[in-house]
Amino acid sequence: MDIAHVAVVGAGTMGNGIAQVFAQAGYTVTMVDVAQAQIDRGLANIQKNLARSVEKGRITAEDKDAALGRITASLSLDDAATANLVVEAVVEDSRVKAEIFKHLDTLCHDETILASNTSSISITAIAANTRRPEKVIGMHFFNPVPVMKLVEIVRGLATEDSTFKAVVELAEKLGKTPVEVNDYPGFVSNRLLMPMINEAAYALMEGVATREAIDTVMKLGMNHPMGPLELADLIGLDTCLHIMEVLQEGFADSKYRPCPLLRKMVAAGYLGMKTGKGFYEYPRT
Ligand code: NAD
Repeated sequence: MDIAHVAVVGAGTMGNGIAQVFAQAGYTVTMVDVAQAQIDRGLANIQKNLARSVEKGRITAEDKDAALGRITASLSLDDAATANLVVEAVVEDSRVKAEIFKHLDTLCHDETILASNTSSISITAIAANTRRPEKVIGMHFFNPVPVMKLVEIVRGLATEDSTFKAVVELAEKLGKTPVEVNDYPGFVSNRLLMPMINEAAYALMEGVATREAIDTVMKLGMNHPMGPLELADLIGLDTCLHIMEVLQEGFADSKYRPCPLLRKMVAAGYLGMKTGKGFYEYPRT
């Protein structure tokens, strides 16, 4: 099936970025959310990003208007019915995702591919909510979506080759670099990244070094653009903790035990940049 119409479910941090890149690549996009405020914020963000690209000479004003003209926003999932591909990017809650996939399965054409942008939930488990597990796949974009090149393409146990090939081609048309990954907890990205962040939290808790020293070692010694503690603050400490729990449970291996300091900070509401305090402080201006 030719893919011309893409529905993106969720207009948040990831969803509006995903809608933007599909619209810029010429696809008709329906962006669905349950909250009007999120739709308004998502559309404003896309507009701002495209306007900045015009200022920097990367695209023309006509390109911007054309991309915006391809996006329709909706508060009803029913408007995803005519899509050839749906990319789900709602909150990281397996119950919410299960309901959405059940609904999409009854709503969409049998050939429609149903993708999830989940960071940590099993694609195989998400697919089991549908009668088309062979057409369900992970399309794991990275934040900020318009900038980051990587898309992990996650094959569930039942994902068929034609679904995989279609999604790889699509990612390439978006100007992204797709990487094939099988469905295991954390895929590749978070399986490697989160234990490093968790170990950095242990190093801080044990007094091995200060937060600045830990981050400096990884930036200057390993050429990472950000230190692990700064990155944890950007991602959100609650998200980091959640992913460590997924790894620990999924592999039943104590090497993934979340650092007690990480747990304590999340319990205190120190979630990183979004709350103004994490491993570092972010004064509100
Ligand atoms: P977010 O909280 O910014 O946005 C989630 C959106 O989902 C909100 O706008 C919310 O209103 C909407 N939503 C909730 N229930 C809904 C429903 N039933 N139908 C439609 N919309 C609904 O979250 P996010 O950071 O954009 O993350 C979305 C997904 O992407 C998650 O699965 C997350 O794990 C994954 N992800 C996030 C990042 C990241 O860096 N933020 C990176 C890669 C993947």
